[in-house]
Amino acid sequence: MKLKVHTQILIAIILGVVVGILLGEKAAHIKIVGDMFIRLLKAIIIPLILASMVAGIVSLGDVRKLGRIGLRTFIYYMATTTLAVSVGLILVNLMKPGIGVDIGIEAGADLSSGEVPSVISIIRDIIPANLFDAMAKDQVLSVIFFSLLLGVAISSIGEKGRSLITFFEAFNAVMMKITDWIMRLAPFGVFALMAHTIGSMGLSVIKPLIVYMATVVLGLTIHACVTLPILLKTLGKYSPLKFIRDVFSAVATAFSTASSAATLPITMDCLQENTGVSNKVTSFVLPLGATVNMDGTALYEAVAAMFIAQAYGIDLSIGQQMVIMLTATLASIGAAAIPGAGLVTIVIVLRAVNLPLEGIGMILAVDRILDMLRTAVNVWGDACGAVAVARLEGEKLN
Ligand code: ASP
Repeated sequence: MKLKVHTQILIAIILGVVVGILLGEKAAHIKIVGDMFIRLLKAIIIPLILASMVAGIVSLGDVRKLGRIGLRTFIYYMATTTLAVSVGLILVNLMKPGIGVDIGIEAGADLSSGEVPSVISIIRDIIPANLFDAMAKDQVLSVIFFSLLLGVAISSIGEKGRSLITFFEAFNAVMMKITDWIMRLAPFGVFALMAHTIGSMGLSVIKPLIVYMATVVLGLTIHACVTLPILLKTLGKYSPLKFIRDVFSAVATAFSTASSAATLPITMDCLQENTGVSNKVTSFVLPLGATVNMDGTALYEAVAAMFIAQAYGIDLSIGQQMVIMLTATLASIGAAAIPGAGLVTIVIVLRAVNLPLEGIGMILAVDRILDMLRTAVNVWGDACGAVAVARLEGEKLN
């Protein structure tokens, strides 16, 4: 019998906690397994950004031809994701789940020199002076910028770009494959990181984790039950109560699979059958939404990054929190619509503000349940977007 990865992770967490309690400080000996797992995540991140961003953009076809629906969809997606991240950031600043965890500076040794870049230099440095230098130094914003440029350029040269499109699609598929393999190793990583965390800090880490989860869950609830319904009512002129009944199977599937991509056929079906949104709108808005519009993931990544900063006792300025806002949005766009993807792209957010990647070890333990919840919110956000865009296009709905 083969257990699913998330069941394995659950077992790994429990075993890790038990072993951590039994071994105490000695659990540090198995930390190397967790370190290796985190190094794998680090190894994949730059090529993954390059491949998935370029492949995503070229899949849209000629960027100029996207037209009005494209623009409206884009604005709606960016606006809702930004709203979601803002709610998350406000909550995490109020609830401060990571304060008092006090991981200590030893674990945070990954911190580079400690100088805080100014907002001006962050904006300037988005443009890489040298792409390879940016890649070598894990400067994710610069790599994202270059990938966008590359994707748009490839789309705009038409037939001549064909072979590059094929190349990047294949490259992307390969990176996804590797990510998939890394996820399979996650139980070992989780086990080692849990054992080390509990071993060195004791069970005191559990309480902050619960507050952290509560912060994410509250943020997701506000976004799903207040922000999006208001938009649905005002922009979409559609009853939120009727709509949740219309798309319930999609949201429930998203919750149980933790994959927006796997849910997509059901989302399309619900929208077309139950709401009367045209195929023209659903076939554009929903697949795009499943891959790029992840409100729940963005909110989660912002909260998680702040939680890690708080736990390591690192104060982040308003400017740095703005960087978190931007990178969490970009990281959610870059996250594949598959289980656990948000946990990989959170590296983008952590890197951008120089937070220790080791912090991922803490949040891994509760990731699966949060993944299910954020995926449900992601799909709910896509569905609301389809109604809003359809209405703006003047469609008559049920
Ligand atoms: N599982 C999420 C989704 O498919 C992505 C994530 O990990 O946040 O929407």
